Amino acid sequence: MGEKKFRSDQLWRSLYHDVSNSFEEMSTLSKPFRKSLREKYSISTLKEVMALTSSDRTTSKSLYRLCDGELIETVMMRYESDGHRRNRKTACISTQAGCALGCTFCATGQQGFRRNLTVGEIVAQVIEMQRVAIAEDLDQIDGGQRTKGEVQGVTNVVFMGMGEPLANYKNTISAIRVLNDGQGLNIGARHITVSTVGLIPEILKLADEDLQINLAISLHAPDNATRSQTMPVNKRYPVEELINACHKYAAKTKRRIFFEYVLLKEQNDSIEQAQKLGRLLNGLHCHVNLIPVNPTRDGPFERTDLIVAKSFQGGLKQYGIPSTVRMEKGIDINAGCGQLRERAIEILDN
Ligand code: SF4
Repeated sequence: MGEKKFRSDQLWRSLYHDVSNSFEEMSTLSKPFRKSLREKYSISTLKEVMALTSSDRTTSKSLYRLCDGELIETVMMRYESDGHRRNRKTACISTQAGCALGCTFCATGQQGFRRNLTVGEIVAQVIEMQRVAIAEDLDQIDGGQRTKGEVQGVTNVVFMGMGEPLANYKNTISAIRVLNDGQGLNIGARHITVSTVGLIPEILKLADEDLQINLAISLHAPDNATRSQTMPVNKRYPVEELINACHKYAAKTKRRIFFEYVLLKEQNDSIEQAQKLGRLLNGLHCHVNLIPVNPTRDGPFERTDLIVAKSFQGGLKQYGIPSTVRMEKGIDINAGCGQLRERAIEILDN
């Protein structure tokens, strides 16, 4: 546009640091530049069509309508400081409208694939959450003493919403680079987690990206027979090959790998299965998150009891595998991936 180079930095900062809604708000830019930006471009925002907050107010979920009518979900989870870690606000974002992978315990998987999200649509979810987080931070602050520069905003981002991030690989990586940029949202790479069902070629590619992000693998079963029952992707990428790829990833990146294990009552939560999982992961630098499932409307599974979850954890411990039982946040607002869209359609249908 014939502007000086430093204007691009100012524009970037206005978009991703100040999270401005419009060009008019960008007071660091000259008036003529703002005018030509307005004439040629627009800042796309997501249209919120439904929002819910859990009864304990720690979790809120937004359903957004994209410009072509597709619906996606974004969740914000708020964690109090626990002595080891400071207060956190984690945005859980979507990378696809729907999902082709068809995991049977997942509401999104039960809805089918619609399309990949653009880089802008992925980043815009964090921007929306950042606006909310900043407003909340400012609210909590004491007599308006604190300035906008001191607020914390979104501290973590997890790619665990609708869709498989590595099936939308290029846009996911570009979005991570935007989120991580120090002049913008400045979310540290170690505070960004990408979750995958285990697309092996993309995991190996990700190892070469030189990103210090966290990788989480949705494993959910310790063997092929059990895993294939709930995750059709296992037929393409069996457990042993997946764990092999994880070893390569860990060796290359020197990063610990997280395994997500949704506990499904009487399906994958026995002590024998815990021991099998322990043997499978033996020797890998990893951590297992055990998640008693959020039941879905049409899903066949029930939630594992906490006692069973704890005994599963004991089985892993026998093999020296560290784990955490993570109670899902936002049960009362259908915060599991795809559940709000499911509920909105239910409401619209009636
Ligand atoms: S769990 Fe993830 S990969 Fe599986 S169907 Fe749901 S969104 Fe897709």
